[in-house]
Amino acid sequence: MSLDPFFQDSHIFHRSFSHKPLHVVAADGLTLTLDDGRKILDVTGGPAVACLGHNQPEVAKAVLDQLSKVGYLFSGGGYSESATEELASLLLKDTPGGLSKAIFLNSGSEATDATIKLVVQYWNTRGQPQRRNFIARKQSYHGNTLGGLSMSGHQSRRAMYADFMTDRVSFVDPCYAYRCKLDNETDEMYVQRLKQQLDDEFQALSPDTVAAFFAETIAGSTLACVPAEKGYFQAVREVCDKYGALLVLDEVMCGMGRSGTMHAWQQEGIRGPDIQTIGKSLGGGFIPLSAVLVHQQIFDSIANGSGALAGGHTFQAHPVSCAAALQVQKIIRRDNLLENVRRMGVVLENLLKTEIAPLPLVGNVRGRGLFWAVEFMLDKSTRTPFPLGDDVSTRIKDAALEEGVNVLSNMGFAGMHKIDTAAITPPFTVTEGELVEAVQRLKRAIVRVSKPYL
Ligand code: PLP
Repeated sequence: MSLDPFFQDSHIFHRSFSHKPLHVVAADGLTLTLDDGRKILDVTGGPAVACLGHNQPEVAKAVLDQLSKVGYLFSGGGYSESATEELASLLLKDTPGGLSKAIFLNSGSEATDATIKLVVQYWNTRGQPQRRNFIARKQSYHGNTLGGLSMSGHQSRRAMYADFMTDRVSFVDPCYAYRCKLDNETDEMYVQRLKQQLDDEFQALSPDTVAAFFAETIAGSTLACVPAEKGYFQAVREVCDKYGALLVLDEVMCGMGRSGTMHAWQQEGIRGPDIQTIGKSLGGGFIPLSAVLVHQQIFDSIANGSGALAGGHTFQAHPVSCAAALQVQKIIRRDNLLENVRRMGVVLENLLKTEIAPLPLVGNVRGRGLFWAVEFMLDKSTRTPFPLGDDVSTRIKDAALEEGVNVLSNMGFAGMHKIDTAAITPPFTVTEGELVEAVQRLKRAIVRVSKPYL
């Protein structure tokens, strides 16, 4: 591959050299304006991040106000301030199930790392230091730090660092009915099979060595917007309770309103997780922010045990990030945006099912709220994926960009399945007209890319 001279000239070590990055000169609402004047309808907001779209003046004002009040504090040095405190209260007073404390960090990966450490510390303080094994799911993604990758079952993302990964994490199957439910299985039988597999894994590890089970409530970045089958999380909660292990739900991508409820697990009929991670829609991407939400009982154990949370970061609980997120969360509540997520979610579902699902290469349409994806298949009747190396989802993403809309593509072999998907994850403020336009543009892109296969 000959390198575009752009990459030699730029002083940024860009992530991919295959495509020159699109140079954005303005971002407003759902519109990205490029330096050549083209306009892109942004219906993903990055990877499901920009939940209020781009350029929100009230958030900009909150950031400026915070900068001129308390711009930085070292929380590890024993400081706090009101935006941070207020944000934690706002998040947790709405949260049922006993989650009562927040640890603010800067990325989903940091939240995963902090969770691993918190779980280890918790079991130490509970006098069960042998509980150091984690169970997570194949083809999952919980972050790109070494801790995050250790917890992730996405083989190709882990491969290069395999010897840096802990072997304390084992992996069970995800709940992914479209590809994994057997032909002769009912939904209930499938959930029971997964429940038994998780139970067997506890037994194989010896149950009193298992610290926690780790899963995304709606599998986002690797499987693309796959909600679990009904009863799956109840089954998982039961197995964790049976053996006294913690349930950690990663809602970095699917949480904070994206599924139509503040937390995706609120639609799963469970009392809640013991620990939950959140990120993307927490602060809408204006300034990086993530959090670990912690059950009161874990807090109490640590407060009465070692008396301090181990570890920490320089920019933990950053006041300006918290002020930005506080404003985002106030707007979501004031403007009743979760209602719009639910209403527009139905619109998006119908559009995808009527306009996109019948197309020859579209095998499956799934999602919840404003978190939807399309999975492409070479032969949808036999669920045959495209050959490895056939970059169909990248080509569809590129064609969609030519049509003036961006979609979130996911392509590759994640250790279990070859997968090609395109996701649409619009801001909570999206209108029906914008969704209709986006789906029409995506449809034209899919039709174009499909031609050689028909
Ligand atoms: N967890 C999930 C479910 C994610 O989707 C991601 C990122 O896509 C992460 C964790 C890692 O978050 P970050 O990229 O902010 O480190």
